[in-house]
Amino acid sequence: MNRIQTLLVVLFCSLGQIIGQTKGTRPNVIIILADDLGYGDVGFNRGGDYPADRGIIPTPNIDKLANSGIICSNAHVAHPFCGPSRAALLTGVMPHRIGAQYNLPNDITSPLGIPTDETFFSKILQDEKYNTAAFGKWHLGFTEGSYQPLDRGFDYFFGFLGGGKNYFESEYEDSFYRRQGTSNPVINEYQDPLQRDRAYVSKEEFEQDEYLTDILTDDAISYVTKNKDKSDPFMMYLAYNAPHTPLQAPADEIAQFKIDNPNFEDLIRNSPYITESTPVNKESDATKKEELIEKFVQARITYATMVTNLDKNVGRLVAELKKDMNVYNNTAIVFLSDNGGYTYSKGAVNYPLYALKGSVYEGGHRVPMFVHWPNKIKSSGSYKYQISSLDLYPTLVDLAGGSIPEGKILDGKSFMDKLISNEELRPNEPLIIMRPQNGFHNASLFSNPWKIVKTGGNGKWKLFDIENDPGETNDQSNSEPNADEIIQGLINKGIEVTKQFKDVKPGWFDHERGDGHPHRALWFATEELPQYDKLFGTEELSTSLSVKKKLKNNKLKVYPNPSAGLYHIDFDADYDKLKVDVISMTGQWIDTIELNKETPLLNMTKLSKGSYILKFDTGKEASVEQIVKL
Ligand code: CA
Repeated sequence: MNRIQTLLVVLFCSLGQIIGQTKGTRPNVIIILADDLGYGDVGFNRGGDYPADRGIIPTPNIDKLANSGIICSNAHVAHPFCGPSRAALLTGVMPHRIGAQYNLPNDITSPLGIPTDETFFSKILQDEKYNTAAFGKWHLGFTEGSYQPLDRGFDYFFGFLGGGKNYFESEYEDSFYRRQGTSNPVINEYQDPLQRDRAYVSKEEFEQDEYLTDILTDDAISYVTKNKDKSDPFMMYLAYNAPHTPLQAPADEIAQFKIDNPNFEDLIRNSPYITESTPVNKESDATKKEELIEKFVQARITYATMVTNLDKNVGRLVAELKKDMNVYNNTAIVFLSDNGGYTYSKGAVNYPLYALKGSVYEGGHRVPMFVHWPNKIKSSGSYKYQISSLDLYPTLVDLAGGSIPEGKILDGKSFMDKLISNEELRPNEPLIIMRPQNGFHNASLFSNPWKIVKTGGNGKWKLFDIENDPGETNDQSNSEPNADEIIQGLINKGIEVTKQFKDVKPGWFDHERGDGHPHRALWFATEELPQYDKLFGTEELSTSLSVKKKLKNNKLKVYPNPSAGLYHIDFDADYDKLKVDVISMTGQWIDTIELNKETPLLNMTKLSKGSYILKFDTGKEASVEQIVKL
């Protein structure tokens, strides 16, 4: 061969390595999902410009992995809250498509969960002979046989089915067992005992003061030990609830954190970030101001300890992998958070991003993320292009050599090869974040460098250059010469996608009623949501559901006597007859009862125990209320 031929062969060989180099390679996979972890609270995301007075949380073990892998500095989740974000990660679709745009109710007796006709990626990997395991927080349904991890493609589960948990056994299990068999059993998911596969774990298995993040990691390490030498690879979904609330950390570790980081406390206590924060500024009383500052300081210290504990545990897991370097090198680790950090009272810092968990601004949905895989990622670096948790599904299926079920919609893209070759994954294809609020959606759509944001229902779209202004400080909707065109371009893409699910009703609601989030009421009594048409300004997206009467919740009072099943109704409206529809929590009509203004006593004695929605209608005005029949 002459020199040119040799060069061509070399060139084609290296191209061959780049194109399709990871499909079907079947590495072990570990997804480490942190919960509400702040963008600025991992070392690998902190540049030299990070303001030290916000508190530097050391994360040496996580950083070591990140810095020898590829840091995804522009990674996003599909929704700024836990449940919908996890639903999207495991199903590969935007949560709105499957009615999963709210957190599930935090009730362990709830019959709800992610629709069973959605195939989780774990099921495909399981079918491809992967050993599959889920650890930690599930938050995707309680019902055995339908919604639990073992029903969704995991061979093994150790964790808790709800959306959160107390971190010490003494804080949850005691009250659960103490109240079992009484008239007031524990149904709150935070106090549900830990579960292995389908059964509660005996509390004898660990000490009362053992810390949950440690317990989860112990079990994950033991899983690696048992599975690393098997002929088939393993896929581990390790969903820590740290550093999500409740802010709880071992007292000795908090003390040690203060010793190891002697300036941390003073720096944050005197930081304008805290002392001049909006919540502190809003408080006029000087004593209460001080109390609030102290609350934020203590929250940040406990949160920081939870993060250092998480880091320690990631280090322990990696040490177990490293006992056999072949296993370590052949394991793809994906680390990310399920949504942005919850700042101030919950301790997180999202610097340099604006806003927090729940927001459609970057602080709500841009998350810390990296991919580490020694066998394939030979040179470390940073990936600046947009990547989404939605992309994990097709990526992992590709790695396993599996195929997507026929007819399944996917909102993500297989990323591993593009990540390694540092190519843009979705040019001109925006990611969409939508969060339902009170009868409207907050939303943002972004495709580098532009992002549009609309909040508050009737606001106009703001425009940010997130490539150069990730903190979303400068709204360019009036200054950018092509603003209208850019905004409309993104809106059009949003309409195209939203059209596909505009009539899908939410399967559940986290806030049952109340002044802030009467979502369920809006759906079942007035069908006012989702108002995608108003969001994007087009009739094309109006739902086939009709808008009924406006709610007048402030005019309604229900005085229950739940054990007797009698409810006194005080509806401050002009009426002769008051029609009351009794609706199940899944939106099914059960009964209609008519009341007179003179005897407004609702008899519910015949109904079985449980929660119901009552819709009150005078013919002119309507209101809704949720009741619990004991
Ligand atoms: Ca979360």
